[in-house]
Amino acid sequence: MMTEAAYKLNIDVVILEKNKFCPAASLCKEIIFSDFNDTDALSYLGKTCEVFTVESENIPIKSLKFLSKFGEVKPGTNCIEICQDRIKEKSFLEEISLPIVPFSLIDSTEVISVVSENLFPGILKTSRFGYDGKGQVHVYNKNELLTAYEKLGKVDCILEKKINLDKEISIILVRNSNGKIASYPPAENIHENGILKTSFMPCKLKKNFLLEAFEYASRIADKLNYCGVMCVEFFFSDEKLFVNEIAPRPHNSGHQTIEACDCSQFEQQVRVCANLPIGSTKINGNAKLTNLLGDLWFSNPNKVASNPDWNKYKRKGTTIHLYGKKEAKIGRKMGHLVEFSRYDD
Ligand code: ADP
Ligand code: MG
Repeated sequence: MMTEAAYKLNIDVVILEKNKFCPAASLCKEIIFSDFNDTDALSYLGKTCEVFTVESENIPIKSLKFLSKFGEVKPGTNCIEICQDRIKEKSFLEEISLPIVPFSLIDSTEVISVVSENLFPGILKTSRFGYDGKGQVHVYNKNELLTAYEKLGKVDCILEKKINLDKEISIILVRNSNGKIASYPPAENIHENGILKTSFMPCKLKKNFLLEAFEYASRIADKLNYCGVMCVEFFFSDEKLFVNEIAPRPHNSGHQTIEACDCSQFEQQVRVCANLPIGSTKINGNAKLTNLLGDLWFSNPNKVASNPDWNKYKRKGTTIHLYGKKEAKIGRKMGHLVEFSRYDD
């Protein structure tokens, strides 16, 4: 979606990617199939491009630092380093005095015996590489915690207290290199099994909480000297907001800005990379996003992967986005659907 936005602005994109079936391949100027650690490939990318950005938080920091010798990396390496590691992310949020759910670092079997009972029931989350609820196990006591820690391969984790979620919301904002910030209206997100199912933009929540969420997200962006599009996920529980996590990239939530807003979050990322002025974040209607998971491809009597019947979704105000992923898998995000109703319709 970012490559699509760049294409429309007549800006060339070169992609470095390992996946031979990269969905953006057909729209970019050039694609380099390589591992993210390959210095020859990185040097070539470095010499070919003026500015560098990411669409995954899991790019090795060493590679980003290498690229920064050739041109600016947006957002900066420091931002990605913090956001790709829950332990660093939580410590940073604590440092800047933002409210987070109580947690404890689990980095050995020994710490489990001394972990606070107040964190149960809790969720054990791997510090790195988790997404869509992957790398998470719900635990109710220390025995379960130990089993879960072993099951996750004894990698560094956090144990986070499980709280009652009255709502989950997210803020997508864009910040440029002069420190100017613009935010989209917050979205309400509904997750199922840890995966985003639907998202409503704008969301319904008391104005003081929306302003608070915006203030927290802006504080994060300012403290990180963030450059680009950032998404901050919040939990709302017992009339209180908690920062859950930060995504240092546009493809995390709120993709309905493509249909609903003057300038999409994907275009904003391109604009900030190209030093163009930030576009308008004004929303022009209500937009509901539904993620299209691979499950839909198997929802036929034979349970054999086959394309869903898209005709039933063809109605006014509805747009289907398919990412062009080669293989449908249960729980895999294959695309999304947006139902948009304009305020003046
Ligand atoms: P990721 O999005 O990287 O998979 P999250 O930490 O955002 O990881 O967790 C995914 C979802 O699991 C959240 O959106 C929320 O629905 C649920 N969840 C995560 N942490 C908690 C918690 N502490 N209490 C209750 N629900 C949680
Ligand atoms: Mg999340």
